[in-house]
Amino acid sequence: MGYAWREYAIAWIAPSGTMFASLLHAIDRHLPHSPQGQLHSQMRAWLWSTRDHNALLRLRRARIVATRVRLLAALFLVLTPIWLLVEYYAFPTELWLAVGAARLSVIVAFTGLLLALRAEAERQGASTVALFGLFIVPTLFYIATTLLLGRDTWQGLAQAVLATHTFFPLLLVAGISLFPLTVRESVALILPILLARGWMVWQVLAPGDLFAVLGALWFLLLVAGVGMLAAVSQMGFIIALLHHSIRDPLTGAFSRASGDELLELESTLAVRHGTPFTVAFIDLDRFKEVNDQHGHDAGDQVLAAAAANIASSLRSTDILLRWGGEEFVVLLPNTPCSKAMVGLERLRVKGFGLRPDGRAQTASIGVAERLADGVDAGPRLIDLADQRMYQAKQAGRNRLVGCVPPHDREGDRP
Ligand code: GH3
Ligand code: MG
Ligand code: MG
Repeated sequence: MGYAWREYAIAWIAPSGTMFASLLHAIDRHLPHSPQGQLHSQMRAWLWSTRDHNALLRLRRARIVATRVRLLAALFLVLTPIWLLVEYYAFPTELWLAVGAARLSVIVAFTGLLLALRAEAERQGASTVALFGLFIVPTLFYIATTLLLGRDTWQGLAQAVLATHTFFPLLLVAGISLFPLTVRESVALILPILLARGWMVWQVLAPGDLFAVLGALWFLLLVAGVGMLAAVSQMGFIIALLHHSIRDPLTGAFSRASGDELLELESTLAVRHGTPFTVAFIDLDRFKEVNDQHGHDAGDQVLAAAAANIASSLRSTDILLRWGGEEFVVLLPNTPCSKAMVGLERLRVKGFGLRPDGRAQTASIGVAERLADGVDAGPRLIDLADQRMYQAKQAGRNRLVGCVPPHDREGDRP
């Protein structure tokens, strides 16, 4: 018995320990590093659990997960009838009917899963629920078929078919690697499969044989470990990509690429919850002159200062996007137009910093709001705000045009 353990130790623990360590190192290298060469501790936390993931990360990840769940569920639905046909020739009729019933339940569950994902695609929780369904349903199927088929010894085709059932948990834990997951999610997906496999070996396949259970679990655990590292490294890769694409390096505002997504996300949330949603389009006035008279670098400094000025007057839930060269968009979730107008007017009066010649940098601002303007779609709200910004330019610049004119606008104008 001691010999068996030593074999396990030499054959599995040493190589798998080395493999785990090198894979962890590889994941670490994927992630963006702070100037000190250390991994951002926040991003490390994002790999462990979804709790602190920001809205954009959740959305991007949910989309990837939903697409892959759909693909795998559809693949399973296509392959199942073929298996039914094979099993028809392999098993006696009553057994075939029983296994067929289990397969039919999987077909029903997966069809439901696909339909639910279609209806709820925009809900971020839906993809997670679907993901767990994708793993739990086949695990139950594995338990059912093992209870049905596992007790008897089979010959020929039946034996071959049964072997595929035995490998099913292995296929499932390997399947984890197809998804970008946190460590916690991976563990939550893997555990039921391990339990089911251990239980089936102990109860049905090799009753009461502890070594058979340990052997089966140990191997499964190793494959699960590799699957989990692949899943977590995908998560790390998404986090890294998002980090690079999300911010504009000059101003620190969200970049245009993430802006479209944030706009869609916030407008969808506003419609779902029936809350107000304001967007402001801010275009710096006569900015080209700064470049022409003082050079591009001076222009860059003015741009960065303008972004800092806008950001300092926003609340933590507001989102600043650099929409174009000297154009900014501010998303103000849960903010009625009148309230947003007051805040933006205050910003306009305070100004956007100084130009190199010491004069104030001004801006023209257009504002639109979902409820006041009766426009639900994010891009159309932006268009409306853009048109109003243009009206502000035509009316002489350095002004605010929006859904509800602030009472003191005339008085404030310099
Ligand atoms: P208006 O008041 O009508 O908006 O006039 P404007 O000069 O601000 O507008 P216009 O669209 O003619 O010029 C915008 C300028 O912004 C042109 C471009 O050179 C400059 N610009 C765009 N991106 C950058 C940047 O990243 N850095 C610098 N320095 N300048 C930029
Ligand atoms: Mg412009
Ligand atoms: Mg301009």
